[in-house]
Amino acid sequence: MEQTFVMIKPDGVQHGLVGTIIQRFENKRLRLVRAELRQLTVEQAKEHYRDLATKPFFNDLIAFITSGEVMAMVWEGPHAIKAARSLIGATNPLESPTGTIRGDFALELDSNIIHGSDSLESAEREIQLFFPNLHPAKSVS
Ligand code: UDP
Ligand code: MG
Repeated sequence: MEQTFVMIKPDGVQHGLVGTIIQRFENKRLRLVRAELRQLTVEQAKEHYRDLATKPFFNDLIAFITSGEVMAMVWEGPHAIKAARSLIGATNPLESPTGTIRGDFALELDSNIIHGSDSLESAEREIQLFFPNLHPAKSVS
């Protein structure tokens, strides 16, 4: 069993897509483990996207992701990381097939509705960042 971190971005929340998106994940037989509407701080956003810190679009990405509430979620199931990425689609909505969330509901690269962890390593890091009580870090003694 695998867990992944999924986040509906401010554009998805503002456009009223929370219910539709959750429905798609449930239809795929993934199980919702945690969900919380949150306003990210700039610090949290920078930590979440730290691998992209050198990219030219980084500052715009941080401004966008902190521009309104996001729906932070943990989903669970066999191959949950790959299954979620498949539901979400390609990074650029124009290259994301109809039937995917980005293909159906987004048009532009910088406002593409939703985030999903891209590997086991990022899923563990992102779940720990957003929901530290879900798997409390083991204390080293
Ligand atoms: N992004 C952007 N411009 C780019 C590439 C990415 O604004 O040229 C944004 C986009 O919102 C994307 C996010 O940065 O979802 C994270 O980029 P990543 O490559 O991790 O894509 P994802 O994993 O979200 O598909
Ligand atoms: Mg990514």
